[in-house]
Amino acid sequence: MQLPADYYDQDDSDNVCFLCGNPRYEPLYHVTQFGLDYDFMRCACGLVKQTPMPNEKFFAWFFNSEVFFDAEKTPNNEIWGYRDYFIDEDCRLATSKRRYRKMADVFEKGPRLDVLKIGPATGSFLHVASEAGHRVAGCDMSKRFIAFAKERYNIDIRHGGFEDVDYPDESFDVIIMFSVLENISRPDIFFEKVRRTLRPGGAFIMNFVDMENNVVEALQRDKYFIYRPPITYTFTRTVMTKVLNKYGFGVERTLRDVRVSNLEKVLTLGRWQGAYKLAKALGVERVSFPLWYYPSRIVIARRDDTLLA
Ligand SMILES: [Zn+2]
Repeated sequence: MQLPADYYDQDDSDNVCFLCGNPRYEPLYHVTQFGLDYDFMRCACGLVKQTPMPNEKFFAWFFNSEVFFDAEKTPNNEIWGYRDYFIDEDCRLATSKRRYRKMADVFEKGPRLDVLKIGPATGSFLHVASEAGHRVAGCDMSKRFIAFAKERYNIDIRHGGFEDVDYPDESFDVIIMFSVLENISRPDIFFEKVRRTLRPGGAFIMNFVDMENNVVEALQRDKYFIYRPPITYTFTRTVMTKVLNKYGFGVERTLRDVRVSNLEKVLTLGRWQGAYKLAKALGVERVSFPLWYYPSRIVIARRDDTLLA
């Protein structure tokens, strides 16, 4: 498979590092997967990025494609995105309720907060926040998600990437995103806009796959799911803190991102085909349970303009 050259940022190169401004890259992995060839490079500052860098055209295609929504419809049954995204909605709603409970202190700061979720997908978290009395908003690149969220939860989501949707400055108390960070192609523009759109002292909440002492990476190397085609950058918790501070956010606390999942999700994403076949044969592939995997971590940060140089 060959993707068009204009799906990649031609201005990005080994001479660019948005974090340190002094790029010194070394090759980390050359990946040949999903019928594509690409590299991940590590800068001396710790930041890891894909080259060539997927751009907004790539993501406008990807988030509306079958390779994202349904692996079974792709030629080699490959998991770029999800086996069947919509079948797991019960898991997703249970995960959203659990995440909300764990961050209740943030949402109890006011009776009716303005909450924006970037990339809310099926809208399950916005549904939970809305039921708790908050005013909710969202923007997503996928039209299928927007239609689903409207039908299932009666949640209105705007179409488009966060960078392109027009929000007034200082209009939200909480900006939240899950499984979005690794698909951002221009973090400098993105984080600057998050800061502006958030009220001073407002909470910026996101999750990320922590690459520090990552056991799954040590085992799977370039086969690790974090090195799929739509991943732009990866972060250790140290690098994550540096990024947040650079764009004017102070880290308040982090927590383990426990999700309600099932073996089908975990085993297919981990590319453990044998174990997945066994689970299917036993008929247990869709039994759901809470699990801390990836290892994914949630960061709760606050807009703090005093951090800006
Ligand atoms: Zn760097």
